[in-house]
Amino acid sequence: MIDEKFDAIVIGAGMAGNAAAYTMASRGLKVLQLERGEYPGSKNVQGGILYADMLEKIVPDFRDEAPLERRLIEQRFWFMTDKAHTGMHYRSDEFNEERPNRYTIIRSQFDRWFARQAQSKGAILLCETTAIELIRDAYGKVVGVRTDRSGGPIHADVVVLAEGVNGLLGTRSELRPRPSAAHVALAVKEMHFLPPEVIEARFNLKGDEGAVIEAAGTISEGMAGMGFIYTNKESISIGIGCLVSDFAESETSPAKLLDIFKKHPSVAPLIAGSEVKEYAAHLIPEGGYKAVPQLFGDGWVICGDAGQLNNAVHREGSNLAMTSGRLAGEAIFQIKSRRETMNKANLSLYKKMLDDSFVLKDLKKYKDMPELLHTQAQNLFLTYPQLVSKAMENFLRVDGKPKIDKEKDTFRNFRKARGFGLIGDAFRIARAWR
Ligand SMILES: Cc1cc2nc3c(=O)[nH]c(=O)nc-3n(C[C@H](O)[C@H](O)[C@H](O)COP(=O)(O)OP(=O)(O)OC[C@H]3O[C@@H](n4cnc5c(N)ncnc54)[C@H](O)[C@@H]3O)c2cc1C
Repeated sequence: MIDEKFDAIVIGAGMAGNAAAYTMASRGLKVLQLERGEYPGSKNVQGGILYADMLEKIVPDFRDEAPLERRLIEQRFWFMTDKAHTGMHYRSDEFNEERPNRYTIIRSQFDRWFARQAQSKGAILLCETTAIELIRDAYGKVVGVRTDRSGGPIHADVVVLAEGVNGLLGTRSELRPRPSAAHVALAVKEMHFLPPEVIEARFNLKGDEGAVIEAAGTISEGMAGMGFIYTNKESISIGIGCLVSDFAESETSPAKLLDIFKKHPSVAPLIAGSEVKEYAAHLIPEGGYKAVPQLFGDGWVICGDAGQLNNAVHREGSNLAMTSGRLAGEAIFQIKSRRETMNKANLSLYKKMLDDSFVLKDLKKYKDMPELLHTQAQNLFLTYPQLVSKAMENFLRVDGKPKIDKEKDTFRNFRKARGFGLIGDAFRIARAWR
């Protein structure tokens, strides 16, 4: 196998692993990256929006070559009932800027490109290689890994666990607990292929402009969850996800929810006549700040989804993964430059950098949100969408009924459904959001 010792071994070639490998290799560190998939991205799933700013901090000229689908100029938020949706819609020509802020991507292509960038800086990538065990020295410090390939262990000063939410290395080695069912969502996604001009006509786009629809409401049958629709060049990604603990208690399945979403009268025309070529299911960490495990120790750090670094409120994950990978790489480089050891005290620099960044600041801001969404799911995802939809229908339907009576009807409906709970709901949401 490999006899030489590395400065760092990175587990995983997803967003976090590639960011860490690139950051360290481009600063001259000797980096080995292990990926269990046939190629980087072969097992990875995202809606997916790429947040350019975070990638630009790693690969400044990524727009020259990265496989980007469409730059996003429009976002719709839909509050859904069985027959209707009430929407909020933001579209701006400001997003048609020289350096667009958000793009859609397809991870199987994107991750391959990203891993190639790390390789071009000198990182060695081994695919179809699963890290199965961490090697420790007599003092318990992690000093390398054993893989499923023949041969002995591979040694390094530090191991970067960027193995994603499903990764078993960290949990088996008791570096982090197995995420609980209440802290992970199960999402399913399909890719619907259509000619680009059909996508552009249906979403009112031109050229490489793209749009996003995020939807909540009765489609999740009273569970905390979201549906999404993203435009790619020649396909539409459509999916839905809900907490695993909610699925366990319900009669429904992710596939059933996706079917309901696809058949909704607001959605069906957008994907009509398309050819489905891909179906994927994946977990998303949604426990938020309170579920973030210890992220560093003697000879190891954890990045990305493996560390629950995912902002479910804003549906951001890849940017937190890339940033945590980059910061881990920068911290390791600084420690190495000072010729210090990769012990827990020195690697706490990584956590300090995360604390100072948007990653942990954002998660901390929403620390009470996961619990609120879970405990108030019936109200937020069933009762309110129905009330809002009824109010809108009442407001818009012209039927000779005096407007004053219509307003009274609407207030009566809200009072009947939630009573004084309305004030409590508003207070709870404001407190969790602040
Ligand atoms: C349906 C869906 C939609 C999403 N949409 C968005 C979105 O629009 N925008 C956004 O920002 N985020 C989105 N996310 C979240 C985003 O995909 C994740 O936050 C991101 O992929 C996390 O990156 P990561 O590198 O931490 O983990 P991953 O991308 O999961 O990468 C982990 C890698 O480690 C490898 N690996 C695991 N164990 C081992 C091992 N023992 N040995 C070797 N290799 C191993 C895996 O094969 C994998 O390649 C979405 C997620 C899902 C499921």
